[in-house]
Amino acid sequence: MAGPSVLKCSRCNHPLSYFPIYQNGNNELICGRCPQPRGANCVRVTCYEVLAFKQEFPCRFAPEGCKENIGPEIAPQHERNCPFRKINKCPTALFTQCSWEGKAVDFTLHCFDDHKEHFARNNSLELSLFESGEYYKIVPCGKEIFIVRIRFDALQNVLFSTAVFCGHEANSGKFTCEVIVEDEAKTLELTLPLVRNFDSVHDTKLELHSLELTAPHIVVKIEIADKSQEKKKSLPSEQVLAYLRCPICKCLMRTPMLFYLGGPTLCRDCNQCLQYFNGRMINVQNFGLHNLIKLGANRCKFYGCDFVANEGDIVDHENNCLFKERIDAWALRIRTLFGRAVGPERVIANRLLDF
Ligand SMILES: [Zn+2]
Ligand SMILES: [Zn+2]
Ligand SMILES: [Zn+2]
Ligand SMILES: [Zn+2]
Ligand SMILES: [Zn+2]
Ligand SMILES: [Zn+2]
Repeated sequence: MAGPSVLKCSRCNHPLSYFPIYQNGNNELICGRCPQPRGANCVRVTCYEVLAFKQEFPCRFAPEGCKENIGPEIAPQHERNCPFRKINKCPTALFTQCSWEGKAVDFTLHCFDDHKEHFARNNSLELSLFESGEYYKIVPCGKEIFIVRIRFDALQNVLFSTAVFCGHEANSGKFTCEVIVEDEAKTLELTLPLVRNFDSVHDTKLELHSLELTAPHIVVKIEIADKSQEKKKSLPSEQVLAYLRCPICKCLMRTPMLFYLGGPTLCRDCNQCLQYFNGRMINVQNFGLHNLIKLGANRCKFYGCDFVANEGDIVDHENNCLFKERIDAWALRIRTLFGRAVGPERVIANRLLDF
């Protein structure tokens, strides 16, 4: 005798794994995915439910490729999140007008293929202090996609933020999403609850009054962290990174060259910026430091940016770094001030911003 796993709903033809199960006047069994049948002869078949409760059923998306067997207890949650369920409307459609539809499992790749221009560059968003506005950013973290909406009210000087998690709802607890705004002296951080969509109002408010914001733009950092990955990271700690900073220009020392000047270790940039030390510099390679830096201690050289990567990736990052433009703007100001090029203005700008 075949078990209940071969039983199908007479309406939707999916497995009878989704409770409550009703029987109508025509002796048809109808699952909980379908509208509840009404009428005098309709009864809930609790005896079936009791028997089927411990059974395993194929997922309703088995024809689409899902290989999981699931019991009635988790069927509703699984089906809402099954990687093989169909997404009828791209979750970014609200701001991309995208008409993509497909399997949930393909959504992350779709974002990388078609929505890269909406990714938050360096996990940051730059917005004008003088204008209210609504901004959407896609933030990937591992295989998951997050969509963050930030509304800025310029009159009240307040940010309203919402973070939508597009992955399996059971995984949302593994992630944290923070919105960070800072001035020279102070950092405001706000943890956003992860929600399923923008439909209801989930805005979390962040008042910026206590910050001294003078620039025409503010940078809002969006930090998404995978708590389960944090322990696995083997990048050097903040303290180690601090020792690897050049005492003069504050940037992180880079391979391949390090320069010694009596005591402090200076970076390559300083060789240019501190020309008056000329002659007193000795060119020494420090293999211990070199290896440490190669490991992944390379921090982006632009002030304000927290990006850390290995030697290969950091150059790529710096070419596109959002903070580069800011530093370059400062460098231009310095050049204008002096009426000429005064050497590595970027180094000087980095320093100015650091104090
Ligand atoms: Zn049904
Ligand atoms: Zn499934
Ligand atoms: Zn799309
Ligand atoms: Zn330096
Ligand atoms: Zn430097
Ligand atoms: Zn950077």
